[in-house]
Amino acid sequence: MQESKLKVGVDVPWVTSWSAEESLGVRPCPSIGGRLAICQAERPGQGKPQYSMNHFRRQRETVRGMLCPMCGQPTEAGDRWTQIAKRTSAGVLRARGLSAALPAGLPDARVVIDAGSIAPLHKACVERSLEHCPHLRAHPGVEVMAWPERWSVAPLMVRAEVPAAPLAVLAAPRPAPGPVAVVGFLQLFGVTDMADPRWRRGLRK
Ligand SMILES: [Zn+2]
Repeated sequence: MQESKLKVGVDVPWVTSWSAEESLGVRPCPSIGGRLAICQAERPGQGKPQYSMNHFRRQRETVRGMLCPMCGQPTEAGDRWTQIAKRTSAGVLRARGLSAALPAGLPDARVVIDAGSIAPLHKACVERSLEHCPHLRAHPGVEVMAWPERWSVAPLMVRAEVPAAPLAVLAAPRPAPGPVAVVGFLQLFGVTDMADPRWRRGLRK
């Protein structure tokens, strides 16, 4: 596969998947402490960038390590910004079945920023991506917001077939394991200090 002229982290976001990074199926992944997760080959910069698809491991690293998805470098408190995250409330997220994603005891009225699977970026990287990315410029929900000091992370679980362990010498053949829930991307929720007393209006949306 050809090395691209486009530079990872400069012309193409660090987190973006490339066509040479084929799926490796389900494997234990160090990005989440060895839990079973969807994994991909590691060949950033080879083939063509797949702008609509994040690389599974790199996406998890951005959320776990607060790495900027654009340049791949760590972000520091005070320089973390989101551009298409949505303000919602703890109560609305709980109504959507996301209780486990939130800190216990957080009041329902607390304003929470649902960042989906996109970790916050450096301000300079926000500006660069808004300048250069046509998809982002056309996105109706672009609103640059400071990322709060508290957040929570929740795995987006997907059902997948786990292959039988290779090279295992078994005295008796075992049936192949059925589909199990494994980690796909990581979701990120910013916990603000604000409360929205009318948060229940969000339940109707
Ligand atoms: Zn950056």
